[in-house]
Amino acid sequence: MKSQSSKTGHGGSDRAEPVEQMVEKLIESGTDVTTTPVKRSLYQNVVEQFNKAADLLRLEPDIRRILSMTKNEIVVNFPVRLDNGGVKMFTGYRVQHNDALGPYKGGLRYHPGVDQDEVRALASWMTWKCALLGLPFGGAKGGVQMDPGDYSLAELERISRRFVYALGSNVGPEYDIPAPDMNTNAQIMAWFLDTYLSTVPPAERHRHIHVVTGKPIVSGGSAGREKATGQGVVFAIQKWAEDRGVSLDGLTFMVQGFGNVGSWAARLLVELGAKLIAVEDVTGGTRNIEGIDPGALLEWMGMHRGVRKYRGGQFVDHIMFLKTKADIFIPAAMENQITAETAPWLDVRLVVEAANGPTDPAGDAVLAERGIEVIPDILCNAGGVTVSYFEWLQNKRSEFWDLEEVDRKLWRKMSTAYDRVRDTAGEYETDLRTAAYIVAMTRLEKVYKDRGIFP
Ligand code: NAD
Repeated sequence: MKSQSSKTGHGGSDRAEPVEQMVEKLIESGTDVTTTPVKRSLYQNVVEQFNKAADLLRLEPDIRRILSMTKNEIVVNFPVRLDNGGVKMFTGYRVQHNDALGPYKGGLRYHPGVDQDEVRALASWMTWKCALLGLPFGGAKGGVQMDPGDYSLAELERISRRFVYALGSNVGPEYDIPAPDMNTNAQIMAWFLDTYLSTVPPAERHRHIHVVTGKPIVSGGSAGREKATGQGVVFAIQKWAEDRGVSLDGLTFMVQGFGNVGSWAARLLVELGAKLIAVEDVTGGTRNIEGIDPGALLEWMGMHRGVRKYRGGQFVDHIMFLKTKADIFIPAAMENQITAETAPWLDVRLVVEAANGPTDPAGDAVLAERGIEVIPDILCNAGGVTVSYFEWLQNKRSEFWDLEEVDRKLWRKMSTAYDRVRDTAGEYETDLRTAAYIVAMTRLEKVYKDRGIFP
């Protein structure tokens, strides 16, 4: 199982003021340090993005109050027997942000950085993403705080199964439907399904296979789900290029993160004639301005567990990677990668946010000032949840759609959302991120106005 723990030296938090100094300052200013967060939270990024759009839209204050909070936050501590015979306690999270548009939907992440704040932010972005794409889902996210690289496959299976069991009735096919995210995959979704079904009476099991999406195809998965997020990213880039009359042929791009999303986006873009010139993953970076073959790189990674020493390119450190001159940068790894400190280093025309939350608000401001365009995460990485919706529908109807049908439907969804965001950005004279929030918020505002607040 692959391991992608956070690398030191990346992200805003590594360069932030030391916590001790911050605490000292807070104590001097008379602030209660026991309740004031001393580290910038990811959820704070969401709140700032949300507030900017809500102000511009003049979102009704009551609805604003509702949407600025999560609905349910579940924390589970559960024991798992390790291969050495000992028992270890794990902490898992599921945050359900909003279900006004339909059942909660969102991925599960295995990473040491998973905590309530991170999951809260990721769950909120799912609400906006589903609303933006017009999917009948609300937003949720979950995960287990751990480095999967520290565990054997058998241990990962026991951790996954025990996590599902601990979540119990907090998930369900018509209530909250998980999917893969960072460090989780179709195999883990298969364990999830099998464990969940074991808790359901035998006669009802066949009616519950849509409790999770991103499953292996033989277990009820959808054609095209594995590549869906990368495919959606490429569709968004095609829309951007079409709008500007730019040809993708020969356009250069760099990718941070070469897992599911990054590697699929790279393969599909290269098929359209673009040139991949730099890649970074958790092990380091590689660069070749003559072009990197994504297939060959993946083959290398299969044998060497990372891009760092790839023979088809030259090693680059994090700063050199970020300073690479290219047309497009696709962050497809962690959050908070483009900050006030790193944004000035980028030498690109367009940032395509395949990852969730790769740009913090300060980084966003620098990009805007420098004229670097951004296709925001809630728009461009929505291909994953869109094909998850297709999988959920196919399961409910006992149907199986072929890849051509899935891709055609995905293109329509992505293309419509892109057009709406671009037009809204024009109407409100704002950036694409704020416009994407406005489109999503408008939909949710209407639902709350129609239904009112019980009682
Ligand atoms: P993955 O686990 O398949 O791959 C993650 C990649 O990021 C790996 O190559 C890893 O080495 C790299 N990475 C991790 N930490 C890094 C660091 N500090 N510096 C550089 N590289 C680092 O995960 P994924 O499913 O491809 O998800 C990537 C991003 O896309 C996440 O933000 C996730 O939330 C988002 N996303 C995923 C999906 C999906 O369907 N899988 C859908 C929407 C959004």
